[in-house]
Amino acid sequence: MSIVENLHQIQNELPGNVTLVAVSKTKPAEAIQELYDAGQLEFGENKVQELVAKYEILPKDIKWHLIGHLQKNKVKYIAEFVNLIHSVDNLDLLKEINKQAEKYNRIIPCLLQIKIAEEDSKFGMEAELAEHFFSDYKTNFPNVEIIGLMGMATFTEDETQIRNEFKYLKSVFDKLNSHHPELVEGQKSELKILSMGMSGDYKIAVEEGSTMVRVGSSIFGER
Ligand SMILES: *Cc1c(COP(=O)(O)O)cnc(C)c1O
Repeated sequence: MSIVENLHQIQNELPGNVTLVAVSKTKPAEAIQELYDAGQLEFGENKVQELVAKYEILPKDIKWHLIGHLQKNKVKYIAEFVNLIHSVDNLDLLKEINKQAEKYNRIIPCLLQIKIAEEDSKFGMEAELAEHFFSDYKTNFPNVEIIGLMGMATFTEDETQIRNEFKYLKSVFDKLNSHHPELVEGQKSELKILSMGMSGDYKIAVEEGSTMVRVGSSIFGER
């Protein structure tokens, strides 16, 4: 099947409230253009340099998602145009995003990356820490808006484990929304996005409440 056929097949499987981010890392701009021509506007990259290079040559109405680990010193390269940063996992990074967003007079939407996998991962914050972010980020960081959570399940064949990790993330999401009435009062600040699910596990993720899946190899083929 062609990459456009892959895209359409996955789109058709997803419920209407789930956004498909096509993860185009390591794939050429031509492949992105092909999907763009077929109507796909949301693309995800995990490296800043690659994201910027593609942004420069591709149509400007593409919505770019930064899905991988983000170093503070690289925020400045994407602050002007990035649509959503999925991988905020520390306060220093949030502070820098706020600073760079201010320069461009914009508010950058962000997700907090929560550690849900059993395996040792360097990235993602503990769920308890995420709660603290909400206590003071709004007053201190007016140029960022945290609109949801992101998580990556353990890389395993064990579907029960994957499902449990997604269930856990959904419970953190619900808890944050209910414990912080200020988040639900205004439409604008409610946590809306639950970014979970990749090629191998997006069907489970959707069953467990995902509203945004990040799918690479099932669309573009193996990397
Ligand atoms: C690469 C990547 C994906 C997509 O992975 P596939 O298995 O190719 O679908 C999703 N999320 C993140 C954070 C990634 O780095």
